Amino acid sequence: MTAAPENKTTYVVPDSLFDPHRGRTYKRGRFFGKGGFARCYEIIDVHTDDVFACKIVSKKLMMKPRQEEETAEPEEIAVEISIHRGLNHRSIVKFFSCFDDIDNTYIVLELCRKRSMSELQRRRKIITEFECRYYITQIIEGVQYLHNNRIIHRDLKLANLFLNDMLHVKIGDFGLATRIEFEGDRRYSVCGSPNYIAPEILTKKGHSFEADIWSIGCVMYTLLAGRPPFHHKTREGIFSNIKKGQYSVPSWLTISAADMLVSMLQLDPERRPAIGQLLNCNFLKAAKVPQFLPSFCLTMAPRIG
Ligand code: ADP
Repeated sequence: MTAAPENKTTYVVPDSLFDPHRGRTYKRGRFFGKGGFARCYEIIDVHTDDVFACKIVSKKLMMKPRQEEETAEPEEIAVEISIHRGLNHRSIVKFFSCFDDIDNTYIVLELCRKRSMSELQRRRKIITEFECRYYITQIIEGVQYLHNNRIIHRDLKLANLFLNDMLHVKIGDFGLATRIEFEGDRRYSVCGSPNYIAPEILTKKGHSFEADIWSIGCVMYTLLAGRPPFHHKTREGIFSNIKKGQYSVPSWLTISAADMLVSMLQLDPERRPAIGQLLNCNFLKAAKVPQFLPSFCLTMAPRIG
């Protein structure tokens, strides 16, 4: 979601929450972080001690002036909820429930204690190809599930790829996601500014599932190179490099990793592999991926690989 003006007085977050749909009461725990419109807290079910993440979206902050009198959720959050609530896959943040009061909309989610891959990348800078194969395989499996269900995420980036205690990847934040209604349906605009925006979105030629493949390419590049593929001092400079497809493949990558990146970062969306084809890339087939990674991998490379 795009940044909203911060106004501390508009946030009212109660200590105790009642979920009328599940009949559960939660105690508010620690604060995890804030995004454009949301604040995220740990919440604990007072009867079972089960712990969840709760995304709290202030209605006032989200409302456009004409909506202020209305009680329903603002449009953006309603789309996010309607898409996310129907999803069920091990590589997607589980959506448990959603309810609201006069101040906020509350979204109860699977808790991802190890934060996002953005923090992982900040700490590690570059990860090994062994680890990259592990993470990218899970991202592709999650996105394959989305595409099979005709959903484009449209904002795949490290900050939206969450990690649980076993360092399993969970794709989250469906704030820019969209549903494709029929074969060949294309989208022409995207609100907000996705981090790893595909060239066909920038040029407004019409985009579809291939935009997610481009973003997976940007995620994989950043994990292996320590920086995003398209960089420049200015936003215009970045966009111009994206439109020209101007980036360089790091010299230290194996041929199979470089080939996979190059296939995803093709300017012509039609030439990019479809999500199912990606799982057959030599890079992913080169070795078996482990079932999980130990949490020391957040700060140190594992010996293997
Ligand atoms: P926005 O949609 O407004 O950008 P985000 O979805 O990015 O909000 O969430 C805001 C913050 O909450 C982020 O800093 C993120 O680290 C944290 N967060 C979001 N979802 C979870 C989750 N399932 N588990 C743990 N932390 C989360």
